[in-house]
Amino acid sequence: MLRFKPIEMAMLMTSSFCAQYHASYATKEDETRGRIHSEPSDPARSVFQRDRDRITHSTAFRRLEYKTQVFVNHEGDLFRTRLTHTLEVAQIARAIARQLHLNEDLVESIALAHDLGHTPFGHAGQDALNDCVKRYDPDGFGFEHNMHSLRIVDLLEERYAEFPGLNLSFETRAGILKHCSRKNALRLGDIAERFLSNKRPSLEAQVTNLADGIAYNNHDIDDGVRSGLINLEQLQEVVLFKEHFDVVMAEYPNLKGRRIISETTRRMINTLIVNLVEQTRKNIIAHDIKSLEDVYEAPVLVEFSPDMALKEAELRKFLLTNLYRHYKVWRMAFKAQKIITDLFDVFMEEPRLLPPDYQKLSTDELILSVTDYVAGMTDRFAIKEHKKIFNVGN
Ligand code: MG
Repeated sequence: MLRFKPIEMAMLMTSSFCAQYHASYATKEDETRGRIHSEPSDPARSVFQRDRDRITHSTAFRRLEYKTQVFVNHEGDLFRTRLTHTLEVAQIARAIARQLHLNEDLVESIALAHDLGHTPFGHAGQDALNDCVKRYDPDGFGFEHNMHSLRIVDLLEERYAEFPGLNLSFETRAGILKHCSRKNALRLGDIAERFLSNKRPSLEAQVTNLADGIAYNNHDIDDGVRSGLINLEQLQEVVLFKEHFDVVMAEYPNLKGRRIISETTRRMINTLIVNLVEQTRKNIIAHDIKSLEDVYEAPVLVEFSPDMALKEAELRKFLLTNLYRHYKVWRMAFKAQKIITDLFDVFMEEPRLLPPDYQKLSTDELILSVTDYVAGMTDRFAIKEHKKIFNVGN
């Protein structure tokens, strides 16, 4: 058995690197609102550790490896995919959670599940699928990846004898449901109740949300430069980048190539995390937050300082203008839209082209079934499926 001297034990208990100590406003395992299907507790793992393990063993999680973040999977082996993005989000979210004494296990499970519902081809794919669903069902709910993530973990995964889906805890599911329209909230019941009563999510969910942005803003700089679509000169228009770049070049005037970008973005990530933790601590004190209930009632507490929020917004705007709307990325998005739309339409018109499990008799069921089938595709599967159906001779 591990034995600590009293001084070591005291250090462990007070250090911000101690994973076990949870603040009074953190989400606690023993206060969980439980799972849809009740299950005996696990002697070896906490509720949220178990959620995390179920997510990493799911099919939807493995599919993330072949789904686009910004660059389509086959454009290069070194670009981020949804999977590596997800791992970066989890790592950043855990670092923040530990500093704030939040529940790291919960943060990790929300982060690992946060993009499970993404379609192939990133946001272009999602927009195309949403347009398709709305065309066939104008009064329906459309397609939204958060909602689809919840559908995957609640229903679509097939792993357990006792229940469909992964049967995750209420807290992980609530964290996955980042946005939700009033219309959707009304049909979803208690998991979406906060959207009707205007309450905030747990701090763990708030942290994961911001960690997502920290991860993609920085890795998109890295991937953008790697792809040649943006360059160092352009990036120096961005205050947050320029500040860190200048410090790096002053310290290492002879630094060359990729190490400049990597050294600059790692410092940017660090600055953003430190700023977020400091501002959130201030907010927690200012709003006298003592419990999880206080978190639900308060405004959003996890945020950057006003100054940093402006710099972060400037970086987002830069990436939108120069990377996400770059004509080469736009061409990829255009092709993605065509593939998704063609597949959706052909399956709706000729359901017998679908694998038998997805063929449905009623139009409503068919729309949902085609949505599930298309949303579940990886980039390369969608391309292959499109070729198989539309290229005569394949
Ligand atoms: Mg994400």
